[in-house]
Amino acid sequence: MLGSLLLAGSRVPLVRRAVSGVPLTRKVVDRFVAGETTQDAVESVHRLTDAGLAVTIDHLGEETRDAEAAAQTADAYIVLLGALRELGLGDRAEVSVKLSAVGQALGADGDKIALENARHIAEAARAAGANVTFDMEDHTTVDSTLGILRAVREDFPSAGVALQAYLFRTEDDCRDLSHEGSRVRLVKGAYAEPASVAHQSKSEVDKAYVRCLRILMAGRGYPMVGTHDDRLISITETLADRFGRSLGEYEYQMLYGIRTDKQQALVGAGHTMRVYIPYGDDWYGYFMRRLAERPANIAFFLRALGGK
Ligand code: FAD
Repeated sequence: MLGSLLLAGSRVPLVRRAVSGVPLTRKVVDRFVAGETTQDAVESVHRLTDAGLAVTIDHLGEETRDAEAAAQTADAYIVLLGALRELGLGDRAEVSVKLSAVGQALGADGDKIALENARHIAEAARAAGANVTFDMEDHTTVDSTLGILRAVREDFPSAGVALQAYLFRTEDDCRDLSHEGSRVRLVKGAYAEPASVAHQSKSEVDKAYVRCLRILMAGRGYPMVGTHDDRLISITETLADRFGRSLGEYEYQMLYGIRTDKQQALVGAGHTMRVYIPYGDDWYGYFMRRLAERPANIAFFLRALGGK
């Protein structure tokens, strides 16, 4: 209930201004966001890759409403990828891109603008030896995102995408995307979706996740298991055994600042463990989704606001 309210609030400008304006919010945001600048992101990449982790970096922002801002976001990725290239960090890194941040939400020309920006980012990623994965946003954007993915893959076949297990359509999307060379990050899904398109209860979402995971693990693509859920991690291991996938033929992904002990344990067991690092000043939507996922985060937030 509180989670749904936070997700709804995350899209109301007045709530956005109220939450962003509280100085102590920053303290809590820092737990989930790696900083605001390219330099902050690069420092986190250094720290995490030194500890044996792989990374995927998200320049925060979403639902950009003008073409100039969309191009600026693409430029930010290109600058970041240039820095990773110079430092020779590209092979441990990929970038995660929200297509709505690079133009998808710009009306009739949105897909075209987003595709063009996505191609520029993919070019810079290739030069750095890194991959690109498109995040998945609310259900109204899925067809557009998969269309842009297909177009980008014509020139950059390693481009990947996130699929959300809570959507009814996702088992079919997993089948379509389980072919050789296809990189799919499976997540539960973080947006407030209506019952007409998505499972609502946690247990139904978890069961749907397992069905999707099975399709991806049985397929010929490269599954990226995006979850912090121990049960799903152990089911992944069972499926890896069943379908003969060895270490390196799938990977785990978790969010920056969440379950860091488990992240290290998976590295210790020989897995590729990729941390999703968000950075930038447009952290509000991302932050609200993290609060909505877990009541304990809201308590942490309220304690920080109270100065404790
Ligand atoms: P849950 O059942 O939510 O959590 C399992 C356990 O993990 C919890 O008990 C808790 O111990 C821990 N945990 C989970 N979330 C938190 C948190 N916020 N704070 C502290 N502990 C927590 N969603 C999208 O809709 N589109 C995307 O493109 C997308 N990309 C993602 C990329 C990565 C790498 C990851 C890990 C997630 C991504 N998500 C995305 C978010 C995802 O959809 C879920 O909302 C999120 O991962 C929580 O689900 P869970 O699988 O961890 O399971």
